[in-house]
Amino acid sequence: SPTTLDGFLDRCAAEFGDRPLVLTDERTLTYAETQAWSRRLADGLAALGVRRGDRVGMVMANHLEFTPLKFAIARAGAVAVPFNYLYQAAELAYVLRQSRCAVLITMTGFAGLDYPAMLDEIAPGWENGATDALPDLHTVVQLPTILDAREHVRTVDELGVLGDEHPGASDGARAEPDDLGDILYTSGTTGSPKGVMVTHDAVQRTGYASALTRAFEDGRRILFSLPCYHMFGYVEGLLAAMIVGGAIVPRTSFTPSDYFAGIERHRATEILCVPTMTVALLESPDRPGRDLSSVFAILSGAAPAPVWLWEKVRAELGITEITTGYGMTECGGAMTMTLPEDPLERHSTTVGRVKLAGVAGLPDRGGDLCHYRAVDPLDGTELPAGAEGELISRGPTHMLGFFEKPEETAAGLRDGWVFSGDLGRVADDGYLQITGRSKELYKSGGELVMPKEVEELLTRYPGVSQAYAVGVPDDRWGEVGCAWIVPEPGVTPDTTELLALCKEKLARFKVPKHILLIAADELPTTPTGKVQKFRLAARAKDVLG
Ligand code: ATP
Ligand code: MG
Repeated sequence: SPTTLDGFLDRCAAEFGDRPLVLTDERTLTYAETQAWSRRLADGLAALGVRRGDRVGMVMANHLEFTPLKFAIARAGAVAVPFNYLYQAAELAYVLRQSRCAVLITMTGFAGLDYPAMLDEIAPGWENGATDALPDLHTVVQLPTILDAREHVRTVDELGVLGDEHPGASDGARAEPDDLGDILYTSGTTGSPKGVMVTHDAVQRTGYASALTRAFEDGRRILFSLPCYHMFGYVEGLLAAMIVGGAIVPRTSFTPSDYFAGIERHRATEILCVPTMTVALLESPDRPGRDLSSVFAILSGAAPAPVWLWEKVRAELGITEITTGYGMTECGGAMTMTLPEDPLERHSTTVGRVKLAGVAGLPDRGGDLCHYRAVDPLDGTELPAGAEGELISRGPTHMLGFFEKPEETAAGLRDGWVFSGDLGRVADDGYLQITGRSKELYKSGGELVMPKEVEELLTRYPGVSQAYAVGVPDDRWGEVGCAWIVPEPGVTPDTTELLALCKEKLARFKVPKHILLIAADELPTTPTGKVQKFRLAARAKDVLG
């Protein structure tokens, strides 16, 4: 039967009590320990005055405490709002205000970020309770411990102690499975992030379907540095692992050597990556001599990856089970996935089909996890099977809407269908192909250009590791293409030759007028590693004058 997120933890703790759930280099948390800790923290939150439906913000890297805190918020009947922890003051101010959080849980001493100072800037006087700038925010909880004994500032340890003093304080506030459990902000790849509202039940379904589709063995160990404030780490990592009594190995930031060290130390069986990370693992000089024998699976998502990448992953990392997923925050996680047994090209040419939904533990609400189809991007009308269009989808995993954004909700959620802004086509067998984002198309001389077509051509050229085509303003053509090229290490591709290749293979309006080189580590990305093309376009405009 459906349950809340804290109910889900209770079930898992009953079944897997002494198994590890969170493995960090410093400490291991078992299921039972996570459950006990999250209960204390929930009582502490209730004692602080957190009520059912209140929003509790979190700015926290993939620390051990993330998991117990996350379930504590659910247990207190509150809504978790995990923010991107790389936000600077202005961005944090925007989401804190927008989400109207009552409590904010922050960390200290991470990546040079100073939250007390940021809060001083956003809301002077915040340590005394609610301020004009943040009228709903009454308490700040710090991890692990810092600051003096200011009345409205607590540490996570104190929150637990407070819970011990008020046992059962959160008991009256329990949520229902269909209640709002999380507000997760979108990545901000195409502009300002939006707060996606999803229920307790929705994310568990996605996690469950993921475990089935990825054919989890008992106790799968998933290592990732992708942040838990995002669906990728949270649902495809944490919640999916819990279905089979598995564990997560959360890493606080990405470097290939840290991935290798983490795999070795914790005997991880699967890694989560976005393609730029997979490339970095393959190119890393730190790999030789590492024992990566435990890891046999990889889940890739968030962006397309070329087939040569999967060939190398198999040959060089010894990973045999490859799955790629496609989804968006608005769908409650990955909606489609390839299967581990799919032929290699399929993980590149498609993003899979609807995930296996199974039945165990989940009520039947129309059967499938979700339905999707491509519609005319201009007027939303249905297209013939296999035609390219804007992807729309619906299902019990999907969002309730964007938090306090009625206009965006009306545009993004129509008659229960989520409009993705992604372009794609659905084959007869349900396999989905993503061909781009409608926002990233550009028109040259009145002709629509699909950046992906240009990029695919360029990345086939020796020495080119990645390519990103964007539209830049042009007096004569309105817009022209500019291709940013990331060379392979130690190579400088000849841009004249690249241009000649484009001229030979592409229709004239598709040939980029400009080709610029950029180093991989200079690409503007979201913290989940997605390349922000709107920033690349702005940069091209600057560079080209
Ligand atoms: P914003 O909506 O704020 O601009 P975003 O769309 O990047 O940011 P997310 O919800 O994190 O925020 O990402 C979902 C998007 O990621 C999808 O809409 C799609 O464009 C892209 N995406 C996800 N998986 C894949 C994939 N396997 N292949 C290609 N694109 C993908
Ligand atoms: Mg989006």
